[in-house]
Amino acid sequence: MGKVKKGEVCSVQGCANPAIRSLSPQYSGAMKKAGFKLSESKRLFLCEEHYKAFKKAHTAEERLERWRQSG
Ligand SMILES: [Zn+2]
Repeated sequence: MGKVKKGEVCSVQGCANPAIRSLSPQYSGAMKKAGFKLSESKRLFLCEEHYKAFKKAHTAEERLERWRQSG
């Protein structure tokens, strides 16, 4: 999780909002699984809206994962 330079935009397709967060590309799989369409890029940038939405989806996924493993 890093700081984002000015001028970077969200990596979600069709979204042109300024990015507030950058994520490591390892999250692109999780993002696609959560239903986000991403522009192909080495870095992942998310705007505030998509960052919140992803965090929510990702947290739910992890909770499910933990539940499955404990079962
Ligand atoms: Zn966005």
